[in-house]
Amino acid sequence: MRMQILDGKLTSQAIKDQLAIKTAELKAQGKKVPHLAAILVGNNGASETYVASKVKSCAEIGYNSTLLRFEDTISEKHLLDHINMLNENVDIDGILVQLPLPKHINEELVINTIDPSKDVDGFHPMNVGKMVAGLPAFIPATPFGIMLMLEHYKIDTKGKHAVVIGRSHIVGTPVSILLSRNTNPGNCTVTLCHSHTHNLKELCLQADIIVAAIGRPDFVTGDMVKEGAVVVDVGINRVPDASKKSGFRLVGDVNYAEVAPKCSFITPVPGGVGPMTIAALLKNTYHAAIGQKGNQN
Ligand code: NDP
Repeated sequence: MRMQILDGKLTSQAIKDQLAIKTAELKAQGKKVPHLAAILVGNNGASETYVASKVKSCAEIGYNSTLLRFEDTISEKHLLDHINMLNENVDIDGILVQLPLPKHINEELVINTIDPSKDVDGFHPMNVGKMVAGLPAFIPATPFGIMLMLEHYKIDTKGKHAVVIGRSHIVGTPVSILLSRNTNPGNCTVTLCHSHTHNLKELCLQADIIVAAIGRPDFVTGDMVKEGAVVVDVGINRVPDASKKSGFRLVGDVNYAEVAPKCSFITPVPGGVGPMTIAALLKNTYHAAIGQKGNQN
């Protein structure tokens, strides 16, 4: 079987091109263009990179963006005050707070403070609840990006057994919900695995689709994957690499060299789910700007 790469760069570019056209139309009609506000606290290298790509992508497609940077000593109250100001600012359509936050700040409180109609990361309990109920909601960017990727490549998911490894609120759990819904893509029979799962290898060997969101380099090995499986590697792990200027390279949760030859489709790392996450965030922001409280997808 010929393996095909699920190319996140190309797919996200196609989505960004569509959004750029729609944004230009808004502008031509004299309407305001989408405006994303990003909050970055501290100097975490990975967070800096993610926020920089989000802000750059906004500029590429004609959105406005505002980056608010704070020292990691910022008080919780000060941060909440800023979020409330953004909530009240009618020019701001979407708010994202880059996680993780410093230990002294309650992440849950921060997420709950974002106006759900501006919660383009889809982490507010209101959006999570609506997503679970199958109502229009802002879907967390990474799971939404994965669904957009499956849709773009017309992957047949109906009736397939999907094994999702990892049950975080931002990736694994929402992916398992979206894949099990009566939608296209969707209609999978889903097994959601975590660190207490017994027989993980046997479960993976039964999977038509594997979504790996664990945070451990090369966790999924060739002997865990059946021939013809679709493998979505969400992991972004930094491993030391003296040959790189940065001193590290990025690897996924899947051992690509072993797994790729067995797959029908696989996402690379980098260049797979990462760019799709940004495309999904931009799509959520567009919907927030036109007053559509979330996506149907
Ligand atoms: P979390 O650390 O929040 O969750 C990891 C999950 O993996 C947990 O549910 C945990 O189980 C499970 N797990 C850990 N060890 C094992 C094991 N040995 N066997 C089975 N399950 C295990 O991670 P995230 O969901 O936030 O992120 C996962 C990965 O995805 C990371 O590499 C992260 O960098 C990447 N990521 C990538 C994004 C992108 O845009 N591409 C966006 C977000 C994340 P338990 O619940 O029992 O502890």
